[in-house]
Amino acid sequence: MSDNEVPARIPVTIIPGDGIGPEVVASARAIVDAVGAPIEWQEAEAGAEVFKRGVASGVPQETMDSIASTRVALKGPLETPVGFGEKSANVTLRKLYETYANVRPVREMPGVTTPYSGRGIDMVMVRENVEDLYAGIEYMQTPGVAQALKLISVKGSEKIARFAFEYARSEGRPTVACATKANIMKLSEGTLKRVFESVAPDYPDIESWHVIVDNAAHQLVKRPEQYDVIVTTNMNGDILSDLSSALIGGLGFAPSANIGNEVAIFEAVHGSAPKYAGKDVINPTAVILSSVLMLRYLGLFDQASAIEHAVFVTLESGTLTGDVMGYDRGTPTTAYTEAIIGNLGKKTENWTVREVKPLELPVLSADPDYVKPTERNVVGLDVFVESPLSADELGFSLTELAQGTRLELKMISSRGTKVYPPTGAITDTLDHWRCRFIIRENPGDLWDEDVHQLLARISRRHTWMHIEKLMEFDGELGFTRDQGEN
Ligand code: NAP
Repeated sequence: MSDNEVPARIPVTIIPGDGIGPEVVASARAIVDAVGAPIEWQEAEAGAEVFKRGVASGVPQETMDSIASTRVALKGPLETPVGFGEKSANVTLRKLYETYANVRPVREMPGVTTPYSGRGIDMVMVRENVEDLYAGIEYMQTPGVAQALKLISVKGSEKIARFAFEYARSEGRPTVACATKANIMKLSEGTLKRVFESVAPDYPDIESWHVIVDNAAHQLVKRPEQYDVIVTTNMNGDILSDLSSALIGGLGFAPSANIGNEVAIFEAVHGSAPKYAGKDVINPTAVILSSVLMLRYLGLFDQASAIEHAVFVTLESGTLTGDVMGYDRGTPTTAYTEAIIGNLGKKTENWTVREVKPLELPVLSADPDYVKPTERNVVGLDVFVESPLSADELGFSLTELAQGTRLELKMISSRGTKVYPPTGAITDTLDHWRCRFIIRENPGDLWDEDVHQLLARISRRHTWMHIEKLMEFDGELGFTRDQGEN
């Protein structure tokens, strides 16, 4: 490009959001404009006002159209109605555009004193953003028992694991740790662990290891500086990243990016903090640093680094907002923003600003049946039964009902613990039972007619509310055994 040529402007959807959102987003926008980034902002709305207008998702069509065309959004926090009814507009936005990677950098900030100051915390939490319990698939199985489905796919795990390694490479970070609860949830959380370990050899330049998530929480409090990148499942990541942001001075300093192969949405980790709305006191650093992530994503590396330097110079000079100084003494949001703008072009000498290379997003096959086993067998059936009987009474009844069918009752469990045949365990029981039937012979040719026959028999005496086929793929069990089950 010649010196006289005006760079093309990059369209970005900007959503002010709720509560403190408009103030912090205005701050970030002013700084991005002041650094001369060629952004063409497209204003759009989402959140509380939209819910009030009766849009159940909280995200109007015009906003979806804007993001579909710009493919990049900078957004403020959106309020989520609590309880029943509407879903979170944030989760809707993340899922609508398959932004599968939630990236949350956590680093020590100049001038922000914490018990960890001086230890050089500088890490990135990479949280899977679409699957897990956040799929929000929940049922009341009986009036007294709720169930949430924790869905974790091989494909989703491979995307997030490869993303974490690629992110580490783009920022020159030498290690990636994977945090899961695979020791307990061997299939769901275990999928991320297995996939992570299977793709790790493709990144020989990066050291990697697995850590059980509860130990990760412990390590994060004890020795957080050991981590560069942590990749984890959605629910774990939600908790670990909030914990991590507390180590460096709180949510006011915690930026994030939601990145997919098509769309990326940048936002602070924090919510709408309604009690501070409109008071010009809130810390806008989190969304300013989110805009730094956005500029790097757009390839505007110089402008991103200039803003990061200016933020550090501002903080080093002792210009700090109320969350750090106390709300009676802190610099107002607008004055803090002006100070950063005034410091654009200055460089910090005491704090490093990373050299970042373009991020290579993993490209995986688009096949819906991503994993193709050569052999699959149905070896049994779990039938979830609602019954006020005792385990022994129910076990006797189901054994009798299954006679003459191709399935026999193997065991009954209550919330994952085997209670029939009796084991001597002292277990509080409910009216919610998982009844495991296994095929008497020739696994692999259990037909749906066999299932229908068993269910018809059970229905004569009992209420069943859910069934699950017990599968084997290439000889690997596709289900877990219960506590006490052999
Ligand atoms: P929150 O809005 O994040 O506020 C919790 C507390 O964090 C605040 O009271 C304040 O602590 C501190 N805080 C948050 N932002 C800060 C900032 N910029 N600077 C300094 N301190 C900050 O969480 P919440 O009260 O649980 O949620 C409020 C609403 O936001 C809810 O409707 C929730 O659903 C929504 N939410 C949205 C998002 C999102 O859009 N991504 C994320 C989280 C929550 P002190 O009180 O100690 O000063």
